[in-house]
Amino acid sequence: MSEASAGSRPIIEIDHVSKTYRTQDGDVPSLRPLDFGINEGEFLVVVGPSGCGKSTLLKMIAGLMPPTEGEIRVDGKAISKPHSGVGIVFQSALLLPWKRVFENVMMPVRIKGLPKDEYEQRACDLLKMVGLEGFERKYPWQLSGGMQQRASICRALVHDPKIVLMDEPFGALDAMTREKMNVELQRIQRETRKTVLLITHSIPEAVFLADRVLVMTERPGAIAAIYDVPLPRPRSLDVMGDPLFVELTQKIRSHFHSGPGLD
Ligand code: ADP
Ligand code: MG
Repeated sequence: MSEASAGSRPIIEIDHVSKTYRTQDGDVPSLRPLDFGINEGEFLVVVGPSGCGKSTLLKMIAGLMPPTEGEIRVDGKAISKPHSGVGIVFQSALLLPWKRVFENVMMPVRIKGLPKDEYEQRACDLLKMVGLEGFERKYPWQLSGGMQQRASICRALVHDPKIVLMDEPFGALDAMTREKMNVELQRIQRETRKTVLLITHSIPEAVFLADRVLVMTERPGAIAAIYDVPLPRPRSLDVMGDPLFVELTQKIRSHFHSGPGLD
């Protein structure tokens, strides 16, 4: 965990938060009351069985929908609607095909009505940071899947949110691209010092990236365990052979042995 966490209040506070979807076919309890915090600059990864409420939790932190019970606070303020303090990366890059890469990355600046001139340089810097310099004027369909996902990470960072929420961001990528993206994401997080909450169904990805891994139970999701990952940073892919890495992945995997497995 980063030095920023020492003694300070978590930047994200999940205070007895539950969610039950009310549908025509009845209530769908999706999350049992959860209590935890994410520290400033921390990389927290959530793993859990399919349908246990991971995306629900992320959407509530983004303010896209309210909890049924409890309160979510970001920077001490209760969240009741979408807020500009977060950037979101979804499983597929969701870039607009008729807009160039640069315009896609600038989209949050446009939507939030921020001064374009001030953020253009930032967009360029971010694209450079993820290795997309020279691709600014291409259309998304002229890029590989990995490049599109890197562009979507730039889009999530362009307005300089303190927090980045990522919902299975690399699920659609092949294994080798995915590993490269993990190394890349670790570097970006270290450089930008963002607080990151990432959801994944890959246990090695979770342990590789995380300061802490939060393991959820089956739906309605509750916290099964939280593991610290004290492996030093920066981590290279070789860390996957480290006995501590192996031990942690085994411990996390053991939560799912008797259940339906991960999604
Ligand atoms: P996860 O991301 O862990 O796979 P979700 O958060 O997407 O799980 O969903 C948790 C549970 O809530 C699932 O059982 C799902 O069917 C249900 N659910 C999700 N969204 C809705 C919705 N809009 N209306 C009703 N039920 C929903
Ligand atoms: Mg989901």
